[in-house]
Amino acid sequence: MSGIVIIGAGECGTRAAFALRESGYSGSVTLVGAEPHLPYERPPLSKPMSGEVQMKLICTEDMLEAAGIAYLRGAWAVKLDANAGTVALSDGRILTYEKLLLATGARPRRLACPGAERALDFRTHADAEAIFSNIGEGRPVAIVGGGLIGMELASVLRAKGVTVSVIEAAPAILGRAVPPRFARKLHDRHLSEGVSFHLGHDVIAIDDDGVLLTDGSMVRAQLVISAIGVMPEMALAQQAGVATGNGILTDIHLRTTAPNIFAAGDCAAVSQPGGGNIRFESWRNARVQAELAARNMTGAAQAFAAIPWFWSDQYDLGLQVAGLPQPTHQSVVRSSPDGEMEFYLDAGRLVAAAGLGVGNSLAKEIKLAEMLIAAGASPDPAALADRSLNLKILLKSARAA
Ligand SMILES: Cc1cc2nc3c(=O)[nH]c(=O)nc-3n(C[C@H](O)[C@H](O)[C@H](O)COP(=O)(O)OP(=O)(O)OC[C@H]3O[C@@H](n4cnc5c(N)ncnc54)[C@H](O)[C@@H]3O)c2cc1C
Repeated sequence: MSGIVIIGAGECGTRAAFALRESGYSGSVTLVGAEPHLPYERPPLSKPMSGEVQMKLICTEDMLEAAGIAYLRGAWAVKLDANAGTVALSDGRILTYEKLLLATGARPRRLACPGAERALDFRTHADAEAIFSNIGEGRPVAIVGGGLIGMELASVLRAKGVTVSVIEAAPAILGRAVPPRFARKLHDRHLSEGVSFHLGHDVIAIDDDGVLLTDGSMVRAQLVISAIGVMPEMALAQQAGVATGNGILTDIHLRTTAPNIFAAGDCAAVSQPGGGNIRFESWRNARVQAELAARNMTGAAQAFAAIPWFWSDQYDLGLQVAGLPQPTHQSVVRSSPDGEMEFYLDAGRLVAAAGLGVGNSLAKEIKLAEMLIAAGASPDPAALADRSLNLKILLKSARAA
């Protein structure tokens, strides 16, 4: 079998397989996935609606069949030969390819302390089942890592009445991706919901009683969850001699350093126009890069230029961040009864925006802010701050200019 082979059947690999068909590709498409299920979405794992762990499928068996996508589930790609154009699978099969997409995603970073093996990860449906089948009132949980996944999990567990402690080595939670203004607001909300925090402390050991911290204190817990971030899954690429850094390195067209091999999604560190490579870990990025990789594998040469965007749900609050806010940016705040938006200007130009409000209440504003960023707008800060002024008006004048 030749044609296009995709390694990794997560959001990115699966979306790429369908996008190949949508772009008219008629050769063979083989999707190789290590997990035993049909491809599913990860975000719902930390947002269980009815209390049950959700398996939100990306596609059904029928959809794969109708699109002529050969899905090899439960199969690990174990060896890539970039010169021969072959991939060996864990079951002994060898696939040949004309083009290969590495969509291998990311795997949880592991704690390195004594007893680390007692901590559960949170990346897959199996991880979610293991966590949610082990919780209950009277079974306190310690979450190591105050990032987005850890804090989403904390909010879900509190809603179930579980006692939750969050341990974070940095002095504040959500420091990596969330603008400080909203990280503080979310922190306050978690406090008011009863989450206890242990900030600025590392973990020394995990044992039957819980988690021992660097200040000598013990955080009592029956269940410990490690949510200290992820590492790009790039073993296959490295073994094949494909260049890697903080991810599989690609150019702006998502081509790796090996001929006919592309990379996209959580595993890919994409070249930036200003220099360097950036790896994004978000659902939309996985889809956008998947679609771009599909087009470029079938003959296009389009550059990756999407505005980064992610969302997070904690309690009844929805956070959205578009662009990459930096401390050096000028900040403009717009408050409304629905929540708060913060805009980020770089030398007068709008480059990022974030919003925190109840549910999806700020979705429209964030969408308009994204359009303003894409239009290269340099709006008047006073107009941005004025909540009575519809962002559509600013967009109209940016486009007219
Ligand atoms: C609990 C949770 C909640 C999240 N919530 C949000 C959210 O609210 N908002 C948001 O924007 N993002 C969220 N994300 C992040 C988002 O889900 C990821 O960015 C997205 O899933 C990345 O897709 P991917 O296909 O690149 O990688 P992955 O989803 O990691 O998929 C990669 C797949 O490749 C497989 N694989 C790896 N190596 C091999 C191999 N050698 N052979 C075969 N298969 C292989 C893996 O098993 C995996 O199934 C969340 C993630 C998690 C875990």
